[in-house]
Amino acid sequence: MAIDNEFKDCSYKEVEKIASTCPRCVLAQTRTKVVFGTGPVPCDLMLIGEAPGADEDEQGVPFVGRAGQLLTKILESVGIMRPNDIYIANTVKCRPPQNRAPHPTEQKACFPYLEAQIHLFVKPKIIILAGTPSVKDILKIDEPITKIRGKWFKLPENEDIAVMPIFHPSYLLRNPSKEKGTPKWNTWQDMKEIKNALDYIKKVKELEK
Ligand code: URA
Repeated sequence: MAIDNEFKDCSYKEVEKIASTCPRCVLAQTRTKVVFGTGPVPCDLMLIGEAPGADEDEQGVPFVGRAGQLLTKILESVGIMRPNDIYIANTVKCRPPQNRAPHPTEQKACFPYLEAQIHLFVKPKIIILAGTPSVKDILKIDEPITKIRGKWFKLPENEDIAVMPIFHPSYLLRNPSKEKGTPKWNTWQDMKEIKNALDYIKKVKELEK
């Protein structure tokens, strides 16, 4: 499906450069670095988080703070290795002050970058949505994460892309129990299912060669 995105004639590097000085919302006034995204382009698997935190703002890389380290560990536990197996971005590229949730107006201002990442460059087969703000931004639904995590959805603009919401790793830091049925245990089940789907996609691609 053709996407009418303002960056459709740009390279990935060009869009990243434009974003690095972006003035489109108030977050530009307080950010240190724009956190565009990391990982291979294209990539079958993409994760979209909420917004950069203090560590990400300082380093310009998504999910490198405490929540990011936990996310990396969970991914590794099912054999998904950063940075080669997954492209990671956020709904907004700049840190909201005091780590507040990004406003819908800020997500809207930033959306052309995310849309370009998804449809022009990364072209994922599977998108993981970490936490409620990314579910609202991408799936345009307002359901409690406890109800929709671990379920498969289709991306509204391209139904060939499978989408799974998961708990945000910051929430898992506040709920550290690994007992069966807890958020952390559920997230591990979700990741195993995502890895199985990814392996299946890889197998199909090999058979088609
Ligand atoms: N939380 C997010 O949602 N994104 C990051 O990059 C870091 C923490």
